[in-house]
Amino acid sequence: MALLEIKNLNFTYPEAAQPALSGINLEIQPGEFVLICGASGCGKSTLLRQCKPALSQHGEKSGAIYFNGKAIEELSFREQSEKIGFVMQDPEMQIVTDKVRHELAFGLESLGTNNRKMRVRIAEMASFFGIRDWFDSPVSALSGGQKQRVAIARALAMNPTILLCDEATSALDPTTTKSILALLKDINEKYGITIVIITHSMEVVQEICTHVAIIDAGELAENGTVADVFASPKSRAAKKLVFQGDQNV
Ligand code: ADP
Ligand code: MG
Repeated sequence: MALLEIKNLNFTYPEAAQPALSGINLEIQPGEFVLICGASGCGKSTLLRQCKPALSQHGEKSGAIYFNGKAIEELSFREQSEKIGFVMQDPEMQIVTDKVRHELAFGLESLGTNNRKMRVRIAEMASFFGIRDWFDSPVSALSGGQKQRVAIARALAMNPTILLCDEATSALDPTTTKSILALLKDINEKYGITIVIITHSMEVVQEICTHVAIIDAGELAENGTVADVFASPKSRAAKKLVFQGDQNV
């Protein structure tokens, strides 16, 4: 069964003349590392947020999204928090506490995870993301790249089934971006966590992602394995959009 199944999804923002998403059909299988790409304003963030109802925008929606076979709106808030991790572009927007160690514990504490289990999981993520040395630092003292590592580690500490990253590295320099994407790849391979990213770091995604979905003006222009999509002559126009149309992001 697909982990995430998006069926004929249409979404229009209130007062908008055009739908932001039209007829999207997409399946994401467990363990995939999926890149969603397309020009600025094509609907990538709207689509990703529809996959976590706690973050979905208001608007007119039709079609359905199933998570492990269950209509996504039927997941409880707890299930969503536990199973669907989400990392946004701006780390500042996601910081909720003062110290790094509190930040990492925040999601787990809110789920009432027992202390021992929580400590083990946090230590594991902290060492994976190389943040043990700043465990007791105030979050305000960290660089943007460090804050984003903390945000990703915090989301992964909850042991989600899927992690959705909306331009989580776009405010970072290319070296930091590369190292964070490589860590996500390790997490995907080591823990089998399904990952969906929106990113413009095209130079690394071909090595990291297993699948690609290209969105064009709210529609799914193409989707398949990285090898198929990047080799397909049919997608040349869409790829041109992706590679050249988005210099501002
Ligand atoms: P992307 O992430 O690919 O840049 P978005 O999903 O953010 O695109 O936006 C898709 C379309 O929906 C754009 O035309 C954008 O202007 C519009 N849009 C995004 N957010 C809102 C909103 N909160 N209200 C109205 N329109 C929006
Ligand atoms: Mg966006």
